[in-house]
Amino acid sequence: MKFNILFLLCFLLSQFSFAQENGILNNSESKHVKFKSINMGDCQWTEGFWADKFKVAQETMVPYMGELLTGDVGHALNNFKIAAGLKEGKHKGMKWHDGDFYKWIEASMYVYAQNKDEKIVEEIDGYIDIIKQAQAEDGYIHTKVQTEEEMHRFGNRQHHEMYNFGHLYTSACIHNRITGKSNFLDIAIKNADFLYSKFMPEPKGLLKRFGFNQTQIMGLVELYRTTKNKKYLKLAELFINLRGHSKVEPTDVSSYKHIGDMVQERTPIRKAKTAEGHAVLALYYYAGVADVAAETGEKALINALDRLWSNVVDKKMYVTGACGQTHHGVSKHVDMIHEGFLNEYMMPNLSAYNETCANVCNSMFSYRMLGLHGESKYADIMELVLFNSALSGISVEGKDYFYANPLRVSHDGYDPGNDTEFDVRQPYIPCFCCPPNLVRTITKVSGWAYSLTENGVAVNLYGGNKLSTKLLDGSNIELKQVTNYPWEGKVEITVEKSKKEPFDILLRIPDWAEGSKVLVNGEVINTEVKAKTFTVINRQWKKGDVLTLDMPMDVMLLEGHPLIEEVRNQAAIKRGPVVYCVESPDLPEGTDILDVYLPLKSTLTATYKPDLLGGISTINGDVKLRKDNKEGMYREMSDLKWDTYNAQFVPYFAWANRGKAEMSVWIPVVLGD
Ligand SMILES: [Zn+2]
Repeated sequence: MKFNILFLLCFLLSQFSFAQENGILNNSESKHVKFKSINMGDCQWTEGFWADKFKVAQETMVPYMGELLTGDVGHALNNFKIAAGLKEGKHKGMKWHDGDFYKWIEASMYVYAQNKDEKIVEEIDGYIDIIKQAQAEDGYIHTKVQTEEEMHRFGNRQHHEMYNFGHLYTSACIHNRITGKSNFLDIAIKNADFLYSKFMPEPKGLLKRFGFNQTQIMGLVELYRTTKNKKYLKLAELFINLRGHSKVEPTDVSSYKHIGDMVQERTPIRKAKTAEGHAVLALYYYAGVADVAAETGEKALINALDRLWSNVVDKKMYVTGACGQTHHGVSKHVDMIHEGFLNEYMMPNLSAYNETCANVCNSMFSYRMLGLHGESKYADIMELVLFNSALSGISVEGKDYFYANPLRVSHDGYDPGNDTEFDVRQPYIPCFCCPPNLVRTITKVSGWAYSLTENGVAVNLYGGNKLSTKLLDGSNIELKQVTNYPWEGKVEITVEKSKKEPFDILLRIPDWAEGSKVLVNGEVINTEVKAKTFTVINRQWKKGDVLTLDMPMDVMLLEGHPLIEEVRNQAAIKRGPVVYCVESPDLPEGTDILDVYLPLKSTLTATYKPDLLGGISTINGDVKLRKDNKEGMYREMSDLKWDTYNAQFVPYFAWANRGKAEMSVWIPVVLGD
């Protein structure tokens, strides 16, 4: 008997996990994840770039968006009230508008994780109660389908049922992890059970090809991680296994515009070599597949994800981390492509689409790949997106949005004439998917900043913060990070509490930061410090130890691969992780952006300006301004006249905050000075 009790005790201890279950992704028990999440709220921004952005998010972005979505402009809450029978009227907004509301709730939760303002939970509880009343008895919830007679359930995959469901699952899991409450989670479970009964063990007929914007895969994995009920993981896996095995042809549930490569159904993912189709659909799908692979460890899926990630970042991504080169185009299988990927190296600037959601999804996909592989290149992309093509989607003030994020804007050039591409930021966009997607990302960056590793902690992203968490062995660790990154390259991390035994601190050395130095208590470490890797410092850390990372912050001129015809003989300016642009307010009045050239010998110097555009480093340097009358499609090259002007370059993310302007990231270079 004694033996049995002892055995039982040993067994229970061996099963006891110190891993953290309240991360953005709860991968605490995911056997195939190398970098695990810290609990939300364990990293708090203190000062500097992300602290400033979070403050704007807390004070303006989230409350302002709440006013929009719960009021008559955004109409999202109204839709739930109408579906619940609490209000008269018609559904307004896109078919995926419920999902946008769930994303805003998720953003509110990330704010609450940091500030613990109970008013946020009370307010959200009121909305959850309305959502609950809108939910059908069998668990179905989609306010547009429920309130419009001519629409019926699963009548067209473009109605975004799976998308709304997926965002519901994710948002409800986050709400549950942060508040400990189950009121929202219960709604998600009821819906997921409905979805399970509809699709398992095998969907019938046209449902085999169902699914459009498949956020339900990510959501179902998170629901599995929250409830431990394996059926949700099985359902997530089913949606992956179904894709790519049906004949590609228009049907009642899938119009000719939304089939084939457009929705990643031409090739089963395990065989896919190139990222295709709608960029948001593709990247949400890949992110979901990465979540499933984190649980199952299936090699074929991981290999496919490796190929797809590399195809995106090496051959289809903009210098800003943005994805989805075109609004309308065609795949190599001649399927119509909407808001999506083009061929490799085909990178137009004026007509670049780069939906904010696609850029955000690129960072979400990369965060999951970081978990699977623990390699710094994935965090490099997360950072590239965050500082550039994500933040470009919202004004410095926090109230005006961009949906598309081109790399050049000329008022005489590309005229999109549609409702997603603008040259001036918009206070509301009828297709509102991007704003809450971006705001939930800005509010959760602190959860991405660190990961827990086998015997330590990895610093993925830099910014002034305090980390108070537990390592995977259950020991307490507290770090204080002080830095003026990304404007300065020095980061100082002080150990405030740690276990006595040796453990690792991993510092990401960004891909651009060759020549970085790492010091412990002022002494250069023995380990080699290489860009594109994590430097691992293993030692017996003690309170007061100071770890210093010094990254070179030279202004760099980038060029594109010669196969990118659209940037041949042009340069982009980058300093640290921040990509710069030249913009009308920093040029003589009336200058045409197409007349700006950059002398290769121009001396470019950075200056920190605390009062400009929320506090940024600008770069100054001479440019050449050409007087070109631009007559004729082709003309003899003659009469080249230039003026020299000392121009200011601003971070790309901060453009379009000073009135209507033209802008360009890539600038044609001229030899000489
Ligand atoms: Zn979007």
